[in-house]
Amino acid sequence: MEPAAGITERLVERLRRARRLVVLTGAGVSSESGVPTFRGKDGLWESYRAEELATGQAFEADPALVWRWYDYRRRLIADVEPNPAHHAIARLESAIEGFSLITQNVDGLHHQAGNSAPVELHGNIWRARCTREGLVKELRENPLREIPPHCPKCGALLRPDVVWYGEPLPSHAYEQADAAARSCDAMLVVGTSAMVRPAASLPLIAKHNGAFVVEVNIALTPISVLIDASLTGRAGEILPELVDRVLEASLGDGAGGAGRAERAETHNR
Ligand code: NAD
Repeated sequence: MEPAAGITERLVERLRRARRLVVLTGAGVSSESGVPTFRGKDGLWESYRAEELATGQAFEADPALVWRWYDYRRRLIADVEPNPAHHAIARLESAIEGFSLITQNVDGLHHQAGNSAPVELHGNIWRARCTREGLVKELRENPLREIPPHCPKCGALLRPDVVWYGEPLPSHAYEQADAAARSCDAMLVVGTSAMVRPAASLPLIAKHNGAFVVEVNIALTPISVLIDASLTGRAGEILPELVDRVLEASLGDGAGGAGRAERAETHNR
């Protein structure tokens, strides 16, 4: 098979030498599993105004409406499976000791693919949180029998355990992500439009601290010109090959330790 354009030996080498490798993912990593992104042609934005429904104000005004929307989204993704991009990322975790995964996705697919502890910046759609006591519980029932659902312990309303517009990220998750971005030698940024802050700042924090930063996306993004390389194409096609090559090159080689990024360059397919 022809190697994907842009996966140069130098790029593979820089990733191979990283002692600490961070992968940051967004909705694009799940799109080949059939989970709609918010900004693509089939994005949830088209038929549902996510920015109006995914807010604390909308929930206060009409919790049943918000939960019906989440019930719809949960049904949409209930049967989806991790795709080759998720599996490639899971292989990196098995092979690299200093590996961290940070995701903006709420679909739980990284966990399903075998990643043990993804930092979930925006929560998880399969969990709910008590609006009175903050108790978080898994809520797998699909479709939901009761809308809106109530806390089995205290009877208060449950809300989806996701981050809504206008809400801060869970502080522990953000601190973990920020620390990983500051200390990594290399970062792979996969399927994120790099428009939702503060997650979008993480690649720039990594770059500023000397990491080699590579994005994998079907399109260029606002960070493309600021990082070391852009691999333009589908994550499900590029990542398996990229990970194969990084891990093959590492076999039997004890070398490690990335230096500072040498110079900016962009590889386009
Ligand atoms: P986004 O919708 O803003 O951007 C998706 C990005 O993925 C785009 O840049 C697009 O070009 C790229 N992309 C699409 N298909 C791709 C593919 N096959 N391979 C590689 N790249 C591909 O998503 P975002 O940056 O994650 O931010 C938006 C917010 O949407 C986040 O807060 C996230 O929580 C939420 N969201 C999550 C899910 C999910 O859990 N799967 C789905 C929709 C939205």
